[in-house]
Amino acid sequence: MAIAEISTDDAIVAARPTRGSRFAWMRAFRHGGTLVGLIVTSFFIVLAIIGPYIAPYDPAAVSYDYLQPPSAAHWFGTTQTGQDVFSQVLEGARISVVVGVAAAVIAVFLSILVGITAGFLGGVTDDLLSMLANIFLVIPSLPLTVILIAYLPRSGSLGVTLVIAITGWAWGARVLRSQTLSLRRRDFVEAARATGERTSAIIFRDILPNQLAIIAASFLGTVTGAILAQAGIAFLGLADVTEYSWGTILYWAQTSNALLGGAWWWFVPAGLAIALLGTGLSLVNFGIDEFINPRLRLAGIGTRRAQRAMAKRPRVKKAPGTRVIRGAAAPFTQESSDVLLEVRGLRVEYGSEHASTVAVNDVSFSLRRGEVIGIAGESGSGKSTLAYAITRLHKPPASITAGQLLYTRADGTVVDVLGLSEEELRRFRWEELSIVFQSAMNALNPIMKIGEQIDDVLRAHRPDMPEADRKARVIELLDLVGIREDRVNAYPHELSGGMRQRAMIAIGLALDPEVIVMDEPTTALDVVIQRQIVEKIMELKDRLGFAVIFITHDLSLLIELSDTIAVMYAGRIVEIAEAQEFYRRPAHPYSRGLLGSFPTLGGERRELTGIPGSPPDLRALPSGCAFAPRCPLVQDRCRVAMPPLTKVAVEIGMRPTEARCVIYETSDSSERVVEAV
Ligand code: ADP
Repeated sequence: MAIAEISTDDAIVAARPTRGSRFAWMRAFRHGGTLVGLIVTSFFIVLAIIGPYIAPYDPAAVSYDYLQPPSAAHWFGTTQTGQDVFSQVLEGARISVVVGVAAAVIAVFLSILVGITAGFLGGVTDDLLSMLANIFLVIPSLPLTVILIAYLPRSGSLGVTLVIAITGWAWGARVLRSQTLSLRRRDFVEAARATGERTSAIIFRDILPNQLAIIAASFLGTVTGAILAQAGIAFLGLADVTEYSWGTILYWAQTSNALLGGAWWWFVPAGLAIALLGTGLSLVNFGIDEFINPRLRLAGIGTRRAQRAMAKRPRVKKAPGTRVIRGAAAPFTQESSDVLLEVRGLRVEYGSEHASTVAVNDVSFSLRRGEVIGIAGESGSGKSTLAYAITRLHKPPASITAGQLLYTRADGTVVDVLGLSEEELRRFRWEELSIVFQSAMNALNPIMKIGEQIDDVLRAHRPDMPEADRKARVIELLDLVGIREDRVNAYPHELSGGMRQRAMIAIGLALDPEVIVMDEPTTALDVVIQRQIVEKIMELKDRLGFAVIFITHDLSLLIELSDTIAVMYAGRIVEIAEAQEFYRRPAHPYSRGLLGSFPTLGGERRELTGIPGSPPDLRALPSGCAFAPRCPLVQDRCRVAMPPLTKVAVEIGMRPTEARCVIYETSDSSERVVEAV
């Protein structure tokens, strides 16, 4: 079933590069350029190590062979004191390379420390560290270098190394800070937080590895810059000119007028060495970037094959069938033992110093074990804010300003979710309640294999689980959502959209939660895959018995899969009813408008009418009922006060239909008045 389903959207995956080889990393060097870069760089590194030992002469030894051009005795000629330039270049390689690498190590360490700390912690720490980086960026580095060197005690190459590092970290820190800021907001970091990973684990597993390409690029760039800076400092005579480096060779050549005197052999080899090493490092840089960034790697290896596979991909016709999938929630009872999650009078505000927007207002509903509640409403009605508040993943400026969230564990204990500490919340989320985010591509870590990402959740919550058991559980979960075992080592970009969303569901299911909150989990997918995912969710729900809070703006999908529909308008629930009841007899005028705006997947054809006007601005709501300006049944009293949620119809064994409309205010709840409207 599952495999047959995914086969249609998997053609692209078939084109993925073969993995699993221990030598996979060597493919990074399949580009000639990278290989050349590696050879050149390695050559200079070897030279830095063995150069002084293989030099034919003592580089400082003077002789009577003044200013000799290259010859068999002196391959690179001699200086005006008869010193052998070849020996000097060999000797100089060591200081140039060592200073460059050492300065880059220190500078990159500083930029990681400052950039990631500022980006991840934010607030005052960010302000202070960013100011520090900005100060270093605005001061021209050359004068700063000259001043620092002048004031440093004669510390030779060590001093030069430190000065280059101190003047060279700020740019990298800025780049890493902005990357961290952007990564911090990515769903996979949110997901890692939600799964309860610790801050250090998030930084080292999610933030840092995703910046490796930048760090590697920054490191090699800084090495190149530092070698040039060292050469510049030495060339200006600011370094210890009795030490041999490529920079001091240039210094002596320039002070002795080698250029004017036509002694090109004196400065060309050192200049060429600097240029060659810089080029080599840059070429390696490109290769490393491609190796670390799986997306770039695929661009190189798989794209053409993937495109061919896509071209051959069978065209899939419109969604087959209109089977109504229903959840398996028990018949509605008022018994509290049945209630899993109770939301009472929840209010969420987006606050600023000047004004606050109430995005979720007085929202109450109960979710029973195994029930699917679908939250419907136009964009901006507060659905996602509600979902995030329920999971307590809302971020400033959003805050919960009123209400209660009560969760009943299997053993009957009631948990006050809003009262949970961060540590308790860490355990509560994923164990009891998990989240499937909107875009799987954002919610999955792009540089971690799917299997590792599922394993991460298990590791964070089940530290004592043996590795073999975790592995088996990962395979079991993948199988559960219909992903073949051999995809366990695939990266997110190697999976189709549908499979990525399945992988997200597998992560959500990892710890057998009682509730899964799904925020638009199928929005980014085409209709066929959407249906497959929904069917999968419902099949799993029936098998495993979890409850679902499902959010989508697609009302017809929602009616198909939900037991209960809650319709939101301007932050409030305006109607809550059993799905089929809602479909047959929508109680609120807004619900009728919504139903009239959607084609149904099953049932009779009807004309789409839509709702005139647009959703209100939450910052300037009209007095009384927020829907009044668009309501075809508006009355004067609608503009006076917001009507309460009133029971409209009560039937034994069914959730009562409740609506927030003045037309029900005086009605007797046992009477079905919907038809009268
Ligand atoms: P939905 O999911 O139904 O599209 P949202 O929950 O995303 O709605 O948004 C509800 C309202 O909350 C929006 O109309 C907007 O006014 C407000 N809102 C959402 N996000 C923010 C934010 N980051 N800052 C301020 N207001 C916000």
